[in-house]
Amino acid sequence: IFIPLLGAALAFYFYSAPPSFKEEMLRGKRVIVTGASSGIGEQMAYHLARMETHLLLTARTEAKLQKVVEQCLELGAASARYISGSMEDPSFPEVVVREAENTWGGLDMLILNHIGHSTFNYFDGNVGHIRKLLETNFLSYVAMTTSALPMLKESEGSIVVVSSLAGKVGSPFAASYSATKFALDGFFSSLRHEFIMDKVNVSITLCILGYINTESAVRAISHVIRDKPAPKEECALEIVKAGFLRQRELHYPPWVVGTAVLLRDIAPEFLDSSIRSSYRVENLKRT
Ligand code: NDP
Repeated sequence: IFIPLLGAALAFYFYSAPPSFKEEMLRGKRVIVTGASSGIGEQMAYHLARMETHLLLTARTEAKLQKVVEQCLELGAASARYISGSMEDPSFPEVVVREAENTWGGLDMLILNHIGHSTFNYFDGNVGHIRKLLETNFLSYVAMTTSALPMLKESEGSIVVVSSLAGKVGSPFAASYSATKFALDGFFSSLRHEFIMDKVNVSITLCILGYINTESAVRAISHVIRDKPAPKEECALEIVKAGFLRQRELHYPPWVVGTAVLLRDIAPEFLDSSIRSSYRVENLKRT
């Protein structure tokens, strides 16, 4: 009985038909994208621009944001602006949301995507670094959600939280990063329950990503990891679609992440040993 049940569960898991997505559905929507100066956030901004949304982009580096905004306007964004600052500063999340409120008087989608810098190596005992990383990778997500919630309730909008497979399954050499991503799952999965129980019609989409070919990820781990990265452009589009379709979770790339999440519950030792053997530890320089 176990095999057919597992087969049925797998078939449902991978092939349950999602509602269809049309780019024009997003036309005129007001969207904040954090971490939009590079990588997946930058690609999301370009997709959203082609879909003719209003964009507010944020990150620390003004020069890069300026270029992304220019490109978004060329691609057809209904409007595009940026606000620069660091999410390490506990007051900045509210500043960003207030900018959206003052500009648009409302908000349809909040895409939380930024991360602070963390090294890819054995945990070095630096507790201060974890505190700082929690502020950037986790607390600022909570703070932005809190500030944006009145507007999102009014528009019956969406929150998109970009997380990682390292936020579902423990991963070596990324203990601090992994902790901040697990925290996102705990907080936002709990909040989703509360929204449903309280009839708050704001969706929460948690995006569980595998290895993606952004410059920073490739620079940090390509010498240590055996897997090939998935394309950031496609990843960004899948995130936008999942958020708009109000999906509970996105797993991208689907087979890699979906299988890992499934194995985590049914064969955790096997999964852990496969994860360990996917690293070229000999290429890791201890710091
Ligand atoms: P990038 O490093 O390319 O982009 C990170 C973004 O965050 C940049 O725009 C950066 O801009 C911004 N940022 C960095 N520090 C701060 C800060 N202190 N305050 C505000 N913004 C900051 O990352 P990716 O595109 O690779 O990753 C995007 C998301 O995808 C992250 O949530 C990541 O965890 C997730 N992910 C990525 C994977 C991958 O393999 N690439 C795998 C799994 C998950 P600036 O420096 O200008 O501030």
